[in-house]
This record gives sequence, structure tokens and C-alpha cells, in this order.
Amino acid sequence: MNNWIPEEFIEEVRRQTDIVDLISEYVMLKRTGKNYMGICPFHSEKTPSFNVNPDRQTFYCFGCNTGGDVFSFLMKINNLTFLEALNRLAERAGLELPEKELTPEQKERRRKLKRFKEIHEYAAAYFHDVLLNRPEGRVGLRYLAQRGIDTNTIKFFRLGYAPDQWDGLLKELQSKGVSPEELVEYGLAIKKSRDEQGHPSYYDRFRGRFIFTILDSRSSPIAFGARVLDDSLPKYLNSPETPFFHKGHNLYGIHYAQRGIRERGYALLLEGYMDTIAACKAGFTNAVASLGTALTKDQAKLLKKYADKVVIGYDSDSAGVKATLRAGEILLEQGLRVEVLILEEAKDPDDFLKNHSAEEFQAKVDNAVTFIEFKYYALVKDNPPRAITDKAELVKKMAPDILKIKSAVEREGYERFLSLKLGLSLEAIRYEINSLAKQTKEKFIKTENFSLKQDISVKNRNTIGGTKIDSIGDSFVPLGVIRAEQMLIRLVLDNPDFKIKVLERLGDDFWRLKEHKIIFDNLPDRSFIGFIHEDLLYQRIQQRLADIYELEIESTEAQALLEDCVSSIEANKNRETIEEMQARMIKLEKSGDIAGALAVLQEIGERLRRG
Ligand SMILES: [Zn+2]
Repeated sequence: MNNWIPEEFIEEVRRQTDIVDLISEYVMLKRTGKNYMGICPFHSEKTPSFNVNPDRQTFYCFGCNTGGDVFSFLMKINNLTFLEALNRLAERAGLELPEKELTPEQKERRRKLKRFKEIHEYAAAYFHDVLLNRPEGRVGLRYLAQRGIDTNTIKFFRLGYAPDQWDGLLKELQSKGVSPEELVEYGLAIKKSRDEQGHPSYYDRFRGRFIFTILDSRSSPIAFGARVLDDSLPKYLNSPETPFFHKGHNLYGIHYAQRGIRERGYALLLEGYMDTIAACKAGFTNAVASLGTALTKDQAKLLKKYADKVVIGYDSDSAGVKATLRAGEILLEQGLRVEVLILEEAKDPDDFLKNHSAEEFQAKVDNAVTFIEFKYYALVKDNPPRAITDKAELVKKMAPDILKIKSAVEREGYERFLSLKLGLSLEAIRYEINSLAKQTKEKFIKTENFSLKQDISVKNRNTIGGTKIDSIGDSFVPLGVIRAEQMLIRLVLDNPDFKIKVLERLGDDFWRLKEHKIIFDNLPDRSFIGFIHEDLLYQRIQQRLADIYELEIESTEAQALLEDCVSSIEANKNRETIEEMQARMIKLEKSGDIAGALAVLQEIGERLRRG
């Protein structure tokens, strides 16, 4: 494989990748001032010490001192080479790596993915245009007007209408060079068995339906949800699963909610497309819906990237209650805190928002009950427990959910809640729950031991700033020298004209750490494109740079600091030279060359006098 990649391409990928967005796909980040904090993915910890700096586009963990840029983050977390990381980030940013870098399979997949996106873009534009501008779409517009949906909302959600025709989309897209076979492949048309002449024929999948365009996190259409406006069945029809669309991995509304969830600190998980649109219109930009299926584990994981709390607002009918119970369990399983919205007088959030203000909806969110309480009320509603055996049965049903809760304080709260509600002693409740806990105890012990080991290994590693020391030459490098080198680079980063001063004072071969020399030599350029084919070295350079950024220095004292660093490096150089001379002297002495040894001794004396 040819490894040549244009510099501009790498820089473009870097520019198009936001480190906060990227890391959010792996770590739940919370804003703190200018930066974002989260639980470090590289070591085991309970309180967040993992810091992401959007201005510098870097990350740094104060716990294990791991740090770097977008490329080194992806390389580390997925164990990738630079090229693989570049490839993924390019695809993520919708940029194309030069063709010759790809394997034939990658080329084919890229071609198909591109076509998939292109065709969905055409289809979304067609449905949208029918709704807004063509007579066939008027019925859809009337429906939206009745529901108080304005044009801005229609455009923001890219709503559409599929006319009641067999070949509306087929014709429209054929005029754009899309074949019926392709439409079938990507789920937008259906192939009939052969007609009388023996030719296969095709028809539109979505006909006479209102269209909800499903957008991915980068606002590209990837699928459609379609509902009828009358009573015909099925009420909802969605795009089928294809190699490029899995409904269990996506959420409706994620194109805006990824930001809204992070900002508000919780996700509002709703049941329907219209609920999501109504909530978003009322300012709840953290609202999402699962795509016409029960919530999946992958969707729960997706939510967990953005927040640690989910408020479920499903329909209030019995099907909605059942769906809430299932979704709550899945979310708890992923370690999320779960609350449930109670809208007594409305059948769903859309219905509620028709008759109430956003403030009233917010009040309902603020008064949401915990999932455990919700489940309790749901279970006792039809079968109020009277006998002791009923009560014991109920505790057993609740136990798995309570056991999923990580916080001991919270767990005790639920045990007390059950004790009060059921009129049983706290001890009895605990006994029931703990007897269930014992079955899973072994698993728990294993996980704890593992994380303990990880902590120890992080602490014991022979590292500075998270990386093993790789010095130029094999001698021991004193910590002070490493600090002085770091400080010098930091000073040059903050004051670019110091570079020449350093060169004048120390020359360019004093560096003891290889990465430091590379960083310094490249400054002011910080892309290190020359090192992208040495994956470990690239990561170490980024790591060193991250360490350097974290040094706390007083900017007003830059000049004095520079002097300190220069003299400490000179002093060390001097000391090392003397040590070297002493070693040479001893060697000469042993070999019997006393005159030679004396000459060296004299040199040492002179050096010491000069300081
Ligand atoms: Zn860490």
C-alpha cells in the first residue's frame, strides 16, 4: 500500500473533527468552564479527572497523565494505527481519503455508503418538496397545520410527504440516474415478482404517507419513518434494515439532541416522532425517540455518551407503561439514572404540549418519579399486595432493578421506600434483596479485583507524564532535566520568538528526550505530519505535548524561567561531561597510562573552575 497522504488532507480532517464531539462518543463529558471533564477511559476511576480542551483540541487525564490530540485519542482507545485513525475520522467528517490508500473491499464499501447517502439525500429532498410545494402534499400540510407545526419546524426536521402513487419516488430518482435496483437495495422501493412479459417491476415503499426523515448525528438522512393520516394499517412503516441503517443503533432527533442532552444533563426519551417534534418546538432540545421499536441496548449506550440521566416520557396507556418498564430496565443496566414523566391528564407529551406551556412541561419533568417508584406503582396498581407472600413476591420483582443502582445511598433510599410502602421492616426488605444479590456476588468480586489491579499498574509504571522515558542515548535522565526541557518547549509555544534564543544559548543537540527534540524542531508547526507512519512515536509526541500543555507557568516570568531552564540544562551537561571524563580517567589509570589520566584530571579541574 502506498503510504503517501497529502498534508492538506490530514489537516482538513483535523479541522473538521471536533475533539469534544469525538470524545463524547466514548466518554460522557460535562462542561466545566471552558473545558469538559469526564471519567477517564484509560484508567479506572470514580471521580472525573479526564479533561478535554476544545480551544487546543487536546485531552489530558490528571489521574493517569494520558493525553494527546484527536488522532492519538482514537489510536489509543481503539488500538489503531495512525492511518486507520485518519481513515475513520475522515469518514466521520465525510472527507475522502485518496482512493489509492484503500483496499478493494474498502473502496466498494465506500462507494456504496456514498451512494446510500446520496440516494437518501435525493429522497428526503423529494418528500420534503412534495410536502411544501406540490399539490399531492397538501393533505400533509393540512395535517401539520392542525397540529400547530410551522414551516421552520418542517424544515428543521426535514418533514415530507410521499404521494399516493406507485412510482413517485422511482420516477423522480430515475431522472437523477438512480436505478430501481438501487432503490430496492437501500430499502426505498420493493421488487414485484415478474410481470406478464417476464420483466421485474418495482414500486415505491412509501405511498400516501406522511414522512419523518431520520437524520444521523451529522444531519444526513439515513432512513424514513412513514405514517398514514387516516385509519389504514399499518399506521407506521419504517425503512428496513440495510447494511447502512440499523434502527436499533439510531435515535430520532439525535442530530440536534446530542448537544441539547449534554447541555441539560439528561435526555428526554419519548415514544413518537410527533412527541419529539413537539418537545423540541417547546425548547426541549434534549428530546429523542427510539425508531418505532422497543428501546435497544445500543440506543441506551448511545444516550449514555451524552448524559448519565434519562427521563422517559412514553405514552400513558398500558402499552406505554409496559414499554417504560422495559426501557427503564435496559437503561439501568447501562448504569444510567432513570426517571419517568407522569402526565396524568394527557396521553403523551405531544398531547400535553397542545394544551400546556413549556413551563408546565418543565414542571412535570422536575417532578418526574424515579424508575423504581414508577415500577412499584405500576406493579401494585392492578394487584395491590395484601398478604405477606404478595409483598415478598413484589420485593423479589423489584430487587433486580434496585441491585443495578450503583449508589449505596440511593439504593438504601429505595429499600426504605419499599419498607414504608409495604409496612415491612428495612431488615426484611434487605434480606430479600441481598439473597438475590448473592447469586451475582461472584461476578462483582471479579470486576472489583480487576479494577484494583489496573489502578496499581498505573501507579507503579515507570513513567513520567504517563509515558515511558525514551531518552536519546541510554544513560539515566534526571527528572529535573526532563522538566527543564518541557518548560523550554512550553515557553516557546507561548512565545514563538524564544525558539531562536534557545538555539543560540544551547545549540540543537542538547535534548535528552527524542520526542522533545522532534517537537522543538517542528515548532511552530504542531502537526508532526512527518511522523504519522510511526504510530507509537506519533502517540508519544502527542503525549509529550499534552504533558507540556499541562505545566503551570507564570506568563509574566517567561524570561526568568527561560534563564533557569537554560542554566539547569547547561549545569547538567557540565556534570555529565565531568562524569564522562572521570570514567575516562579511571580507565586510563587502570591501563597504566598515568600521564593520560593526569591530563584528563587537569581538564576536569579547569571545567569545575569555569562552573
Ligand atoms: Zn486516566
